[in-house]
Amino acid sequence: MRIVLLGPPGAGKGTQAQKLAEKLGIPHISTGDLFRDNINRATELGLEAKKYLDSGDLVPATLTNRLVDDRLNDADAAEGFILDGFPRSVEQAEALKDMLAARNTTLDAVLEFRVSEQELLDRLKSRGRADDTEDVILNRMKVYRDETAPLLDYYQAELKTVDAIGSLDEVFARALQVLGR
Ligand code: AMP
Repeated sequence: MRIVLLGPPGAGKGTQAQKLAEKLGIPHISTGDLFRDNINRATELGLEAKKYLDSGDLVPATLTNRLVDDRLNDADAAEGFILDGFPRSVEQAEALKDMLAARNTTLDAVLEFRVSEQELLDRLKSRGRADDTEDVILNRMKVYRDETAPLLDYYQAELKTVDAIGSLDEVFARALQVLGR
């Protein structure tokens, strides 16, 4: 299966993506993790991306799209994948459509993890990641509202919404159910 996960920062996408990947036997592809890995290894891409992660802004599309296109070429992604954190804008969604078309394929499902804003703030403040300071969190939420939320309309036809308030296992069960697994 080829799946995209949507939802604001702090909705639990990463954890659910990992569990889904394990269950479905497909790789979990997180653009945030790929950027952080490049930053830790001080690659050229990492050096360019760092300032955007530090402020919570989107890394420019040229860098991000190339990163994803390269990752989709890896053998483990040939039969399916879970994309977590990409696409984050309509422009990226159009790029993804082209990447899939070039591989003669399309998405099977888009899952939206839905959480209220207050719950999100509470969760993010207790997570303790380097880019989880209040200013950066608020900026990432604004970027989500302005850039990413339009994807909920863009993917209207294939969108399945999961109530992301509940225990890890409860939310996971809901995700599997909407995927028909
Ligand atoms: P995440 O781990 O998904 O919360 O992403 C952390 C940060 O990585 C974001 O705040 C962005 O700076 C950057 N990032 C991750 N995915 C993307 C993307 N698809 N497009 C642009 N920037 C991204």
